Amino acid sequence: MALATVNPTTGATETIIEPHSPEEVEQRIAQSAAAARTLRTTTFAQRAAWMNAAADILDDQAEGLGELITVEMGKPIAQSVAEVGKSARSMRFYAENAETFLADQPLDDPSKVGASRAWTRYEPLGPVLAVMPWNYPLWQVIRFAAPALMAGNTGLLKHASNVPQAAMFLDSLFERAGFPKGSFRTLLIGSAEVAAVIEDRRVKAVTLTGSEPAGRSVAATAGKSIKKAVLELGGSDPFIVLPSADLTTALETAVRARISNNGQSCIAGKRFIVHADVYDAFVAEFTERMSRLVVGNPLLPETEVGPLATRAGRDELAELVDDARAKGANVLTGGFIPEDSGYFYAPTVIENIPDDARLVLEEAFGPVASVYRAKDNADALRIANQTTFGLSSSVWTNDPDEEAWFTANLDAGAVFINGMTVSYQELPFGGIKDSGFGRELAAVGIREFCNLKTVWKA
Ligand code: NDP
Repeated sequence: MALATVNPTTGATETIIEPHSPEEVEQRIAQSAAAARTLRTTTFAQRAAWMNAAADILDDQAEGLGELITVEMGKPIAQSVAEVGKSARSMRFYAENAETFLADQPLDDPSKVGASRAWTRYEPLGPVLAVMPWNYPLWQVIRFAAPALMAGNTGLLKHASNVPQAAMFLDSLFERAGFPKGSFRTLLIGSAEVAAVIEDRRVKAVTLTGSEPAGRSVAATAGKSIKKAVLELGGSDPFIVLPSADLTTALETAVRARISNNGQSCIAGKRFIVHADVYDAFVAEFTERMSRLVVGNPLLPETEVGPLATRAGRDELAELVDDARAKGANVLTGGFIPEDSGYFYAPTVIENIPDDARLVLEEAFGPVASVYRAKDNADALRIANQTTFGLSSSVWTNDPDEEAWFTANLDAGAVFINGMTVSYQELPFGGIKDSGFGRELAAVGIREFCNLKTVWKA
């Protein structure tokens, strides 16, 4: 099985890359294990210098890398270039803060445990496997790699099969910046070969960002091997609009929250739950704005929505809409595949979705907004929480009691009030329920792949 860049804008195969042979995979895991022994003996200052140098490479190549991302997976070019910049900033953030995040923590009163001194220290685990998706081909990897390498771990990357060029760029990035050879290695393998890598005794932990089935499979293997796993899976985030909200800002943001990254983001607002008192006005304007979006070639600066990354993803999205429509839902705009050789889907708004439609429970990974009319706040919360996912959520209100009530009762890893969900390096990121477990980013993200060692001294 060869790995290929298939340009989703045209459907044309641009590049074919041969996967690694079993011997090459073995060699790369061995390199990673050897580098882990070296890296753990280096200082934070040394690793920070290398990490900053890697960030410089990204900044220097932002335009070219942005184009590579757009050609491989189809997001509008400005968003691809922004992804490169965000990745570089995150590398600098961990270069600057890793030592503080991983500082020893003494017990204030060691006499309580009969010690003269007691403390905890964070130590690296060794090689960590990252199974990563194509939707943010650089950022998803860097938000794992920057903290992992700063903690003194090494990284093994199994990237999505449709972004092999991004995978190979990342393979050499850290070594070019000065990290010891093998500190970060890409494995060009299919998903069927992932289990053997997790089971390899030299690999100490695994993190996956992707779909729920992939998460179940990786977590099952990690469980059997008694290895730490972090899972960042899908989401079907609610975007709740209440009568007290600033509706103008909510509307503008709703469109952005749904179509950013061509709608293929785990934290996109996907279900728009609107209070009955403002439903008609909000949905009419939202539909109007969604129908006016410029769909087209993502390399053109005016394009707002590009193609979906793969034909299979586009067809899956079309099936979700067709299923809901067949069961009685009302398509307000879109709901069709444009005539084009690329993998486009028209920006869509759909309402009156019956409970038995797949859209109610499944993630719509593309520019399809489901809208729900909520009778009151309790009904809005019920609809928000009825999904099996629990990644993030967004609530629009200017009423402090409403804000507090939704914040406390939404089943999600995050609540954004009067804003859309964004991943910030300063804030923990992750979900509950079928959205996974563990956290990325901030201090908690770098600690996920560390041995928290307790030290007790008589
Ligand atoms: P996948 O979950 O299949 O792919 C993500 C990564 O997991 C890829 O590297 C993939 O490799 C790998 N993978 C897939 N199955 C397994 C497995 N059984 N064991 C180990 N690794 C595996 O995502 P898709 O690209 O197929 O997208 C399908 C759906 O997943 C989307 O429609 C969306 O709902 C969700 N998704 C969510 C993302 C998020 O950000 N949370 C990101 C991407 C997808 P390979 O490419 O070789 O199959």
